[in-house]
Amino acid sequence: MEVRRVFVVFLVAISTISAHAQSKDADVEQKLSRSTRLNRPADRKLMPKIALRIYDFDQVAPTAIAGAKDVVSEVFRESGLQVLWVDCPSENRCAANVQGPEFRLRIVPASLGKEMVSDEALGFAVPCAPGEPACLFYIFYWRINALAGANHFVAGRILGHVLAHEIGHTLLGPNAHIRFGLMQHNLPLAETERTLYFTSGQAKQLRANLLARDAALRNTVLSNAQAESVAPH
Ligand SMILES: [Zn+2]
Repeated sequence: MEVRRVFVVFLVAISTISAHAQSKDADVEQKLSRSTRLNRPADRKLMPKIALRIYDFDQVAPTAIAGAKDVVSEVFRESGLQVLWVDCPSENRCAANVQGPEFRLRIVPASLGKEMVSDEALGFAVPCAPGEPACLFYIFYWRINALAGANHFVAGRILGHVLAHEIGHTLLGPNAHIRFGLMQHNLPLAETERTLYFTSGQAKQLRANLLARDAALRNTVLSNAQAESVAPH
């Protein structure tokens, strides 16, 4: 039986599709799996929180959104981060407010997305400095759905891996690609049926970067408040 393997290529700003082969390294995968699990804090209350706002402007099937959330939550939990999901049915209407740095995931329809990029991108992350209160991501679900349908994979699981990978770039930087795990430049779609993770080193970096962003944001808020308070007239 022919086993068809399809890979998704991720870039920092843009994700595209590739179809070239890549060998599987079972030993490395096993080590990766074990190292990420050992890295997880025992007490979930001690986990730094990562706030993800999800704006679904493409009316994606609720099962696909739920599947993607499961993947992202699991990936970050294994890296010692607790995801706080905030559903936003429209631009200015969200289910809850959160404190600290936010990651805004905008799933845009084909009519809008095709004007944003001209290639086969699955989405992109807008570069986000540490002091930014919110980092933006645009996701082109219609392409993910078509890719999943054509190859008989679960769209929600691919969506979840795309989201986690792009957020990973924002926290780990543009050169975060390695040859296994979630941060592969070429993500084998077949392997999204199980879950791909960050390495333990990447997980440590994720937590440090998130805490640094939180601190930078608090300093910005504090200095703004001080600036306001020293202008008596
Ligand atoms: Zn990438």
